Amino acid sequence: MINSESYSKIFEDLLKQSVTLVAVSKTKPADVLLELYNSGQRIFGENKVQEMADKYETLPKDISWHLIGHLQSNKVKYIAGFVSLIHSVDSLKLLKEIDRQAQKNNRVINCLLQFHIAKEESKFGLDYQEATEMLISEDYHKLKNINIIGVMGMASFTEDKAAVRAEFKLLKTIFDSLKKDFFRNKNDFEEISMGMSGDFEIAIEEGATIVRIGSLLFGPK
Ligand SMILES: *Cc1c(COP(=O)(O)O)cnc(C)c1O
Repeated sequence: MINSESYSKIFEDLLKQSVTLVAVSKTKPADVLLELYNSGQRIFGENKVQEMADKYETLPKDISWHLIGHLQSNKVKYIAGFVSLIHSVDSLKLLKEIDRQAQKNNRVINCLLQFHIAKEESKFGLDYQEATEMLISEDYHKLKNINIIGVMGMASFTEDKAAVRAEFKLLKTIFDSLKKDFFRNKNDFEEISMGMSGDFEIAIEEGATIVRIGSLLFGPK
């Protein structure tokens, strides 16, 4: 059950700060998404390709679908026709496959580069050097059907707010350096996707333009 009052409050607060809300609806059935849709939400985030494709089929077509979880190259084809933003680009190989599938679908797919900012080993993502190597490569410059519009990162799962803040600061620094060195004349390179239910307020203070919120809207998994 969606509490539409608390949804509206979160949404209005974010709107005032010009922060985009991605409602993370992974594991929730389509009718629950529809409830939030009926409260006005149009951007939904999923972490599994098949689940997102199924929900895309059943739900209204004016929803923007964001892929926020790790993406395997061989699965890009299932979402290339409709995905509106892929948050989790972490290799040139993946980016090339997104480009290939986007071309097949006659479209350009917006992407974020995911960076590893957390202490935990298990988190996916690039480091700064890997990203720069990718962005100076000849292969990258050949890609015409992808559009990189910013960065994404996940902070450590910890109660240590100072540590979380430091990780968000790191992602902002990465964004600023990339902007300066690679995307200076690209006005749509402007997104920083960071912050979840437990830490989105800190993320916004540190410069998030997109927050990905699940349990706060939908209840715990
Ligand atoms: C699940 C998930 C979220 C949302 O997490 P909540 O704590 O439920 O808000 C955000 N980003 C990613 C990448 C996720 O997998």
